Amino acid sequence: MNLSHIEHIGIAVNSIEEAKSYFEDVLGLKCYTTEKVTDQKVKTAFFKIGKTKIELLEATSEDSPIAKFIAKKGQGIHHIAFAADDVNASLKEAEEKGIKLIDKQSRKGAEGLNIGFLHPKSTFGVLTELCGTK
Ligand code: ZN
Repeated sequence: MNLSHIEHIGIAVNSIEEAKSYFEDVLGLKCYTTEKVTDQKVKTAFFKIGKTKIELLEATSEDSPIAKFIAKKGQGIHHIAFAADDVNASLKEAEEKGIKLIDKQSRKGAEGLNIGFLHPKSTFGVLTELCGTK
């Protein structure tokens, strides 16, 4: 698998509006885009630090995966995304090595990137996203 860096860290929050001031006013990062990902029932806000982004995730409905995550675990780190050369090839490789997948095929995520998730049961509890242009 050819991974280059941590593309982003996804953080589940109750309210982007509330969380934003911490990232902007305390950490001094700048929110450069917000986006609704309708099929995931989330609103996202992105901040950049070096090559890595912070992705805030807020549920837009009660049956959103983010709402379920917060109900179970509270606000906090939701997933880590690695920048992958080729998301589909990486998913295939992970599966061949016995990792349980959430996505067998990549799909379109925020910022128009291809994304695919590995199952936290196979990744020591850390929901893992692979993310790239291919
Ligand atoms: Zn993500």
